[in-house]
This record gives sequence, structure tokens and C-alpha cells, in this order.
Amino acid sequence: MAKIQMKTPLVEMDGDEMTRIIWKMIKDILINPYVDLKSEYYDLGLPYRNETNDQVTIDAAEATKKYGVAVKCATITPNAARMTEYNLKEMWKSPNGTIRAILDGTVFRTPIIVNGISTYIPTWTKPITIARHAYGDIYKNTEMKVSEGCKAELVVTAPDGTETRKLIHTFAGDGVIQGVHNTDDSISGFARTCFNYALEMKQDLWFASKDTISKIYDHRFKDIFAEIYETEYKEKFEEAGIEYFYTLIDDAVSRVIRSEGGFIWACKNYDGDVMSDMLATAYGSLGLMTSVLVSPDGKYEYEAAHGTVTRHYYNYLKGEKTSTNPIATIFAWTGALRKRGELDDIPELCEFADKLERASIKTMEDGVMDKNLSYLCTLENKKVVDTETFLHEIAARL
Ligand code: NAP
Ligand code: MG
Repeated sequence: MAKIQMKTPLVEMDGDEMTRIIWKMIKDILINPYVDLKSEYYDLGLPYRNETNDQVTIDAAEATKKYGVAVKCATITPNAARMTEYNLKEMWKSPNGTIRAILDGTVFRTPIIVNGISTYIPTWTKPITIARHAYGDIYKNTEMKVSEGCKAELVVTAPDGTETRKLIHTFAGDGVIQGVHNTDDSISGFARTCFNYALEMKQDLWFASKDTISKIYDHRFKDIFAEIYETEYKEKFEEAGIEYFYTLIDDAVSRVIRSEGGFIWACKNYDGDVMSDMLATAYGSLGLMTSVLVSPDGKYEYEAAHGTVTRHYYNYLKGEKTSTNPIATIFAWTGALRKRGELDDIPELCEFADKLERASIKTMEDGVMDKNLSYLCTLENKKVVDTETFLHEIAARL
């Protein structure tokens, strides 16, 4: 069989630990035999990030801007323990944070639905995608402790030196204050990315905030979304037969639980942080959660939502066989290959991605899976396999 040919290279970002091992297995067992893989390789494994003073991460993000589609393996975000473990020159920043800042992107997380894997919410028969605004609010805050008798004010200084002040609180006892911000630019970019993604997925878009309490801050989000929708997207949504729906965050939460899924839920930064953990747990497994970073100008970076699965890697280093779920990483590859196929008009590549996804799901629906997933599986004939066997079982079905 002739291998499928590619036109434009995929930006390939390798990573760390167990997922780095799985990365190579996926390529060897599931991709290279069928696709004449054209990729521009960046090694984002921690040793090489350290060697290049993290320049490789910046180069990989720039390459994504140039080519438009990337696939990324999970990477270590260094902490104090990693400084010694990897003998690092510096505590390098999170690669995902660096890439997100360069691409100015929004992260969309979607669970993979598998028959026989029980979700905690039985009505959720379709995936819910969370789109998290990744800039500002409490993630870029300034906080202070305030002592008894102090008066706290918001002060804004204009370029000409004029000050505008608003009283926050006069403290009768000790307390705390916090300053947060966001920008119209960032909110608009977020809104457009969500509207575009909804059109691409042909799914309704929900957005919610606490505008009844936060009458200026959260209300700004609501207004920007509404204005962009009315002027740029309303007609396109009507043509596609999908809806944009705004509601109060409280109402959104209760509607989400009662829903059957199948829509995109745009969340402010904090809501997205908390709700994506809730959703990942409710849908069953981190190993089945996909993630794609999309920039307002349509650049895509696909990855798994989970980390490098450190505990499994240490077992692997001891020579033990691990049972790590490769599915979310496979779906990062299929997402990226399909997008490349769409952009370069290579239908065989899109078809290959579809087939690999179907083979992956079929494998689990036949009862073949990793250990963690098997705890959630209601099928009678379960077969817990090691990572490599899992991949060969998928290859057999492919
Ligand atoms: P993690 O790698 O996601 O693993 C947490 C636990 O979840 C694992 O120990 C395992 O549970 C289970 N798990 C996750 N993925 C699995 C899979 N594919 N198959 C089977 N089980 C899976 O998170 P972490 O331990 O908090 O972080 C480890 C490293 O990853 C850290 O250095 C962190 O910086 C990095 N990280 C990177 C990214 C990213 O690049 N996007 C995201 C998150 C974390 P059991 O041990 O119980 O089997
Ligand atoms: Mg979180």
C-alpha cells in the first residue's frame, strides 16, 4: 500500500517522561506505516529546553504561527524538585503558557465518548467542549493584606496624570484586597475564536458570566460577545443552524447538568479552570480528554489534556510494563493530521485520521483498555493491557 503523502509539515513538539515513550510508539505503530509523515521536529523534552535556555519552545511556537498546525506531547512544568532531578539552569516556565502567550490562543477541551465507559452524569451522551479564556482576571492579580483602620481605593492614572478614584472598602478590622484586569482586545480575541470554533464544529455556543453582580467587569465580557455576534457572526450562525446563547453563570451550570451535551461552553478564566476539572472527572477519565489551542487567526495546536504521567514513567524506568492510556495522545495526532488534510486538501489524510479514531474507540468498546479506564468500564469482558499491546490492538483494528 502506498503511504499517504503530505504537503506542508506538521509542527511536532516532543515532550517528557511516559508520554515521550508513548509518542514514539504511536508514530512507529500507528502513523509511520501509513503516512509519509512530514514534520518539523522540536524537542520540548526538559533536557533540551534546559540546553537551549527554552529557546526551542519559542521556536516551536513561532513555527506553529508559520505552518498553522502543531501536535504537542505533554511536557514537564518544572518545580523545585525538577530543578535537582534534571539539574536545571533555571526554573523554566510552563511550555503551554509560553506557547499560549505567543499564539494568543484559547484552549478547547473535549472528552472522547466511549460506549461502556460510564460517565457520572447519565444524561451526557454527547461531549461538552469547554473553551477557557486564558488571559487575565485572578491569574494576573495583585493582592494585599489590609489592616484595621485602612481605607482601600481603586486608582487609575490617565496618560495626562489625571486620577480617577473609587472607594473599595474602609476596613474596621483586618482584611484582604485584590486587583484584577482584562482587556477588550483579549476578550474580543476570545469571543471570535469561540464563534469560529462553534461554526467549525457546527455546535451551539454558550457563554456565561456573573454580570448581575459584576455590573461593569463581567458585563464588559457579555457586551463584547453580544456586539461581535450581532455584527460578525449572526448570519453565519443562522446559516449553519446553530445558536449563540448567553446566560448567567449560575443558570449555565444547572442547564449544563440537565443537558445531553453536544455544545461548546465558553468560560471566563476561573470558571474554565474549575469547570474543566469538573467535566474531565464527570466524563470519566483524563486519558480520554483532548485539548486544542486555537488562535484568533486560525492556528491550531493539538495535545492531550493530561500530563506526562510521572508515576508510570518511574515504573517504566524500573523495567516494569506500564498500562498507560495512549488515546488522548493519539487523538492529538489525528486532530492535527485531519486539520493538515483539510488545509492542504488531502482527503486521504482526513480519512486516515477518522479511521484511526474509530479503531481507537472500537478497541475500547471491545473491552481492551488500560488499567485506570477499566475501573470505569461496565463491559463484561474487559481485558487490561499494557501500553504497547493497547497500540497493537488498535493497529489490528485499523
Ligand atoms: P498527569 O501526568 O496527568 O497524571 C496524574 C495521574 O492521572 C497519573 O498518575 C495517573 O494516575 C492518571 N493519568 C493521567 N493520564 C493518564 C493516562 N494517559 N493513562 C492512565 N492514567 C493516567 O498529572 P501530574 O502527575 O499532576 O503531572 C505530571 C507532570 O506532567 C508534571 O511534571 C506536570 O508539570 C506535567 N503536566 C503537563 C501537562 C501538559 O503538558 N499539558 C499537563 C498537566 C501536567 P495513577 O498514577 O493513579 O495511575
Ligand atoms: Mg484546574
